[in-house]
Amino acid sequence: MPVEGFFSRLAARLFPLTLKARMASVVILLVLGATSIVTLGALLLAERDMKSVIGSQQFSVLSTAAAYVDEQLDNKRAILATLPEGLPPGAHAEPGAMQKLLESRPIARGEFFNIVVFDRSGTLVATLRPDFNESRFTANTQPYFERTVNTRKGLISEPFLSRLSGRPVVVLTQPVLDKNNDVAFVIVGSIDLQKSDFFGPINALKPGKTGFMFIMTTDGILIHHPTQSRLLQHINARPGYNRATEMALAGFEGWTEAKNKDGQEGIYAYKRLRSTGWIVGARYPTAEAFEPLANLRHRAIIAASVFAAVAGLLSWFAISRLLSPLQRLRTGLSKVRQDDADIALLRMKRKDEIGDLAHAVYSLTAEREQALNLARDNETLVRNILQHAPDAFISSDQDGRIIEWNAQAERTFGWSRDEAVGRTIAELIIPHGMRNAHTAGMQRFAATGGGPMINTRVRVHALRRDGREIPVELSIGALRHGDNNMATAFLHDVSERVAFEEKIAAGERRARMIADSMPALVAYIDRDLRYQFTNDHYQYLLGIDPRSMIGKTVPEVFGAELYHRLWAEHVKKVLNGERVHAERFSTELGQALHMMVDLVPDTGEDGAVAGFYLMAMDITKRKEAELTQAASEKRLRLITDNLPVLISYLDHERKLRFGNATYQRWMHIDPQAVLGQHLADIIGTHQYSKCEPFLARAYRGEVVSFELRTLLHGDVRTLDTTFVPDLQPDGSVAGVYALSHDMTRVKAVEEQLIELARIDTLTGIANRRKFDEVLWQAMERCRRQRSTMALAYLDIDNFKTINDTLGHGAGDEVLKAFAGRLQRTVRAIDTVARLAGDEFVIVFENISHPAEAAALAAKVVGAVREALALPGGAMHITTSLGIACYSGSKESQQELIARADRALYAAKRKGRDCYQMETQSV
Ligand code: GH3
Ligand code: MG
Repeated sequence: MPVEGFFSRLAARLFPLTLKARMASVVILLVLGATSIVTLGALLLAERDMKSVIGSQQFSVLSTAAAYVDEQLDNKRAILATLPEGLPPGAHAEPGAMQKLLESRPIARGEFFNIVVFDRSGTLVATLRPDFNESRFTANTQPYFERTVNTRKGLISEPFLSRLSGRPVVVLTQPVLDKNNDVAFVIVGSIDLQKSDFFGPINALKPGKTGFMFIMTTDGILIHHPTQSRLLQHINARPGYNRATEMALAGFEGWTEAKNKDGQEGIYAYKRLRSTGWIVGARYPTAEAFEPLANLRHRAIIAASVFAAVAGLLSWFAISRLLSPLQRLRTGLSKVRQDDADIALLRMKRKDEIGDLAHAVYSLTAEREQALNLARDNETLVRNILQHAPDAFISSDQDGRIIEWNAQAERTFGWSRDEAVGRTIAELIIPHGMRNAHTAGMQRFAATGGGPMINTRVRVHALRRDGREIPVELSIGALRHGDNNMATAFLHDVSERVAFEEKIAAGERRARMIADSMPALVAYIDRDLRYQFTNDHYQYLLGIDPRSMIGKTVPEVFGAELYHRLWAEHVKKVLNGERVHAERFSTELGQALHMMVDLVPDTGEDGAVAGFYLMAMDITKRKEAELTQAASEKRLRLITDNLPVLISYLDHERKLRFGNATYQRWMHIDPQAVLGQHLADIIGTHQYSKCEPFLARAYRGEVVSFELRTLLHGDVRTLDTTFVPDLQPDGSVAGVYALSHDMTRVKAVEEQLIELARIDTLTGIANRRKFDEVLWQAMERCRRQRSTMALAYLDIDNFKTINDTLGHGAGDEVLKAFAGRLQRTVRAIDTVARLAGDEFVIVFENISHPAEAAALAAKVVGAVREALALPGGAMHITTSLGIACYSGSKESQQELIARADRALYAAKRKGRDCYQMETQSV
């Protein structure tokens, strides 16, 4: 291939196919052809004539040669025939005479190779060449001998191999007759065929350098031939066929052209010998014969070529000159095509055909240029528009190979124009799942130039470079461009729109879901009072299919009468842009309903009301419940108002939320008038401070009861109050109920009873009343018996702390245990009593000495130190003790008690958990 390429390039370089070159080539070829035909025709004719001249010449030479051989043979026969004439008479009987005869004729020796003489029996009797004297040789078996004897005439034999000399020979015979005319001897003269003496002159006549002469017998045995080895052989001993040979053997004389057995052309001439009929032949190889002619042909061709070349060169110049305006036109056109030159270059002021052509070309080019500029401008404009189109623009050939790819396509799909152009649409932007369908579509497009997608606008998915699929709006067009169909496509990325639509749709679905799940009628009604939206609740509440309402007006659905009675006024307001809230009772569509209706105007940005939203709730049940509750509240109030109990409810800010009629009766306060006021403002800060600790406990979740002495109507009244927390399910306290009974009367009775009793109710030991009696009696006895007694006054140390830390109940338990401990520590005759709070007294009687009293006091203080067993566990307390002795003086009861009390005070001062003795004052 590369070699072929090289040659074709070389040929194109050497023989450019310009018109000029072609015309020059034609001239050269014509000149060459014409001169060749003329020269070769003349040569052919000359050759033909020359051939006949050569043939004839050859034949005449050959005839000369044949005549020469004939003459030679005649000559030799004559010599042989004259030989016997030299014999003396009677010598026929003497063989020796024959030998003498031969030797006496030297002339004969020159003519023949040898001359021998046989006698009648064929015995050799004489020989010219003594070296061939073979006495045993007889000739009687030789045909030439027999024939000579029989015919008694001399002859020329066939060629044969001499037994005497061993050479190929032809012999001439001459019988020697005796007087009876019988053959006495036969003289035989042999011609050595290998010696050139005989044929030498013939060879000199051979034609040309390589031509030759030959002689053969009538039967074709070669007698003379340049190839010695072929002598005595038949001419056809060599395999093969030679037409000339066959003709010669058949008797032809003259010249002819034939191929020899090696296939080489030759001019053959044949002539028979007059004497023997032998055929003298000559061969002249045609190649040699016509060598001058061949040389001539060669030179003629060279001459023709030179002539043609000169003619070609001249014609080249002539054509060049003639065609030069055409050439100018051509280069001008080519420059114009390459935009190197203005078309004015094509203008030519000639009045011939080339001038016309130039003018036509100029006009055509001008028109074309104009059209081209227009098309280019249009194309630039279109390309600009497409490049900056807000949509992706792609065009492809019918196989889907991208040709155009604008800036928006680059942005939408992520491939640059350079990357995209040349690749297929399928591999760049068609999602994998859609490629088969796309390929089928493109095939159909390639075949028909159309398809279902052409000139439509569809929404499909397209593939981005990052593998993401995006929804696009696609419109495809088809364009016929030459034999090809071109597809153009505008693609618009609608991801955002789709997302927005989906959002809107989802929003609408949600709105409908919400509206349908609402236990209320929800509707949108336009200015013409037509329902545009209705929810499912219409079906549930009123039994109207909400879909059947769409497009109908309110009066159409509910009747004109009902509309005017219930709706008209509200609708007028809402269409004026006001919000409407109304509760109303009516009988709609056969149902008694209490409805709460809200109408909200749909006001546009320009303030115009396009319609209104309606939400109507069925509040019939709530209304019924409200009525029921109101009735039951009324009953409750009636009851509470007539109870002799003050009932209040305080909210978490301790403000009164409820107060029954007792407020009026007990405190002359109208409970309705003070609702919402703080409790402190209602009952006064003084009273409130007494309640506060208990109230605080109630707000912590405790039910608290306490007694409160207060002034009502100027009377001191004892109120037993219970605070009940309003516990919520989550454990918090929303408020406190307060219930107060008037316990004044009960209290009075109780106090009277206590007054009468001598036992402390808490501890079960003697109380003050009993103590007073016991002390008086004891002092009396002392005075009477002049004995001594002692009075101990005790007070528990830091009892308040116990109360404060462990509670009042625990304090009571301590008091009880303390009383028990004291009781068990003293003697049976001694009396333990509780005066009040944590104050106790012990009356010790029959004391022998004040020191004993001190011992008793120490004992008691020590006993208290030991742990008390209480329900809540063991507890250590201490007590302070003041003790005073009495030995029957006039001292009063109060003075003694005071002394003991002072001693106690001293003990407290001293640091508690100890006792102090007070001596009797004088
Ligand atoms: P001190 O050592 O000075 O005596 O200190 P104290 O904390 O014991 O003070 P004080 O004796 O003055 O306090 C007695 C308290 O006893 C005052 C009162 O609240 C309380 N109290 C009075 N009667 C009773 C009662 O019947 N039961 C209970 N638990 N406490 C009472
Ligand atoms: Mg105390």
